[in-house]
Amino acid sequence: MTAPDARSFDAIVVGGGLAGLAATQRMAASGLSVALVEKRGRLGGSSAMSGGWFALSGTAVQRRAGVEDADDVFLSDMVATGGGFADPSLLDALVARQAQAVAAIDRADAWTDELKVSAGMTIARAHLIRIGRLLAYLEREALAAGAVILVDHPAEELVMDGRRVAGIRSGRAVFAADAGVVLTTGGFSRSRELLDLFVPDQAGAMPYGGVGNTGDGIRLAWMLGAGLADIGHVAGTYGQHPDASDDEHELLTANYLGAILVNAHGERFTDESESYKVLGTAVLTQPSRMAFQIFDAGVRARSKPGVPLSDMERIEELGHLVSAPTLSELGHRLGMPPGALERTVERYNDGVAGRAADPFGRTGLVTGVGALAPVDSGPFYAYPAVTAMTSTYGGLSVAPDTSVTRIDGTRIEGLSAAGEVVGGFHGASYMTGTALTKALVFGIEAADRTAAA
Ligand SMILES: Cc1cc2nc3c(=O)[nH]c(=O)nc-3n(C[C@H](O)[C@H](O)[C@H](O)COP(=O)(O)OP(=O)(O)OC[C@H]3O[C@@H](n4cnc5c(N)ncnc54)[C@H](O)[C@@H]3O)c2cc1C
Repeated sequence: MTAPDARSFDAIVVGGGLAGLAATQRMAASGLSVALVEKRGRLGGSSAMSGGWFALSGTAVQRRAGVEDADDVFLSDMVATGGGFADPSLLDALVARQAQAVAAIDRADAWTDELKVSAGMTIARAHLIRIGRLLAYLEREALAAGAVILVDHPAEELVMDGRRVAGIRSGRAVFAADAGVVLTTGGFSRSRELLDLFVPDQAGAMPYGGVGNTGDGIRLAWMLGAGLADIGHVAGTYGQHPDASDDEHELLTANYLGAILVNAHGERFTDESESYKVLGTAVLTQPSRMAFQIFDAGVRARSKPGVPLSDMERIEELGHLVSAPTLSELGHRLGMPPGALERTVERYNDGVAGRAADPFGRTGLVTGVGALAPVDSGPFYAYPAVTAMTSTYGGLSVAPDTSVTRIDGTRIEGLSAAGEVVGGFHGASYMTGTALTKALVFGIEAADRTAAA
């Protein structure tokens, strides 16, 4: 038998999405020899497919828009969204270190002025960032600083030196990492096996996200006794067209602009201002596990072309928006029982006008914020959408410095993890934009920890 190929670096990063590229760039810039191994033929993972929304507080974009936000409000919104299940020490670290993310976005020149209130927020805090530009910048800078980036290199094993992680094996190649290994392999949204094991109630959700995201990092660290966090809360995101391709997501949240959700019988079933994760689980219990976003010309006029989650033009171009001059005709086109949609909308409009309480307690557009308007000006529209498992916000247990911890709370020496592979940040639900912010902030943190080792 021939000896395996062996190469030696200060650090190895496993997975080339936002967290991995941020970690690689940072370590290379600080003078470490670093190799990034990516399982697929190209970098990007879910990060490259994402909407590009980042949750950040106290930014120049907010100040220019006249939005007053504060770190403690950001923190308390995340605590509330997570239902008290998220790890407060991780949330504190996220807020305290967000300046690192802001600085990286500055350097990449990736800001836009798009700002909105989205799931889990009581204030406009979702910033639209040019994610492709940010990823390209990190890759370019990492290579310029001497990092080695290897695609088609899945990490298959963590190589140990006693109880310390000392490298990885990919095929026949062994990569030694003197200072440590950083796991940034994303989540397990493409692993039917792990989804069935951890969240069987989500079995009806459409598998989505980066095709390479099959939970490899979780499995690798699991073998070393790593703990898990938030796994039972993993939930799909409502708002994707059932025919969306792998390359282009079709997420729309017209409900946050004033649409209502109705099932195939033309009936409402939930408070549409809830987080799209909560809505995702509610929709899985409805007939055919789908719901229509129903709205009128007023909401249609609030579409933002090119802005993920609010771009109705794109969805119309794809032929996925159904419209009709009257509610009765729309209900007919959707195959609903005669009169059902009109009755549902009438009851909803009664609630908006204060003539009756909303049956599901809806008081605002999103998270109780934003004034509701009646659905009453034709033409009327319907967007049929399902729950997609875009991301799995549960994973390895880590300390705020990104070291992976065992089930007994002790640290696994030589092993850090950042991004979606990690749990503990979201608890029961998810605030829009916290996944990308977390990937960037803690990718950088993992690099600093490894460099200091
Ligand atoms: C359609 C969609 C829209 C989204 N929109 C938003 C949004 O607007 N805001 C937000 O905050 N979040 C959003 N998310 C979630 C967010 O994109 C992810 O949580 C985040 O990008 C994860 O970053 P990451 O670097 O941890 O993982 P990824 O970007 O997924 O990268 C992980 C990489 O690791 C690779 N990998 C896996 N296993 C191995 C292995 N064994 N060896 C080597 N490489 C491996 C994968 O192939 C992949 O390239 C969205 C997700 C989707 C799918």
